[in-house]
Amino acid sequence: KEFAQISLKDIDDVAKSSFPPCMRHLFHLFEKLREDHHLKHGGRMQLGLFLKGVGLKLDDALAFWKAEFSRKVGAERFDKEYSYSIRHNYGREGKRTDYTPYSCQKIISSTPGVGDHHGCPYRNFSEENLRAALNKMGVTGRAVGDVMDKVRNRHYQLACTLTFEAVHGSSCDAGINHPNQYFSDSQKIMQS
Ligand code: SF4
Repeated sequence: KEFAQISLKDIDDVAKSSFPPCMRHLFHLFEKLREDHHLKHGGRMQLGLFLKGVGLKLDDALAFWKAEFSRKVGAERFDKEYSYSIRHNYGREGKRTDYTPYSCQKIISSTPGVGDHHGCPYRNFSEENLRAALNKMGVTGRAVGDVMDKVRNRHYQLACTLTFEAVHGSSCDAGINHPNQYFSDSQKIMQS
């Protein structure tokens, strides 16, 4: 398998060290959704397929989503309405297609509506929110200006590549073209 594997107990740690901004945003939002216990469809798909790509097994994925969602909709409704779509993503329902995680291109070209949180932060965040997100990842000073220059020129994947390099203190010559590539390249550096 080309992607690294994670289990549910590692997810918080690897999210902090190796998730790209688009997934970090959804993941932290999900963590914080204590009042709402909810993430809309677009966000669930984007994050859910990414987690599948990083090697979260179906049972762990069900446990991950159920922990929050069932607090809002109840365990029974979760099992009926939401577990189906998670199983579906894993190719266990419907046409049994094994859905692949979204690429940067697909995420960048998505059009999140009001209340949606999927999409690419470089494209969809305000400058202020993007700066705050970068600072949180430990990107500061000149590196932030360099990232912002790429964003202004709509080179979102280059902005992400510069972010990766600033966070890891290591070059990423191939450039970022997939959130799961960001993750596996990051894990390679972390584990070396
Ligand atoms: Fe995610 Fe790709 Fe955007 Fe980076 S460039 S935040 S990996 S969609």
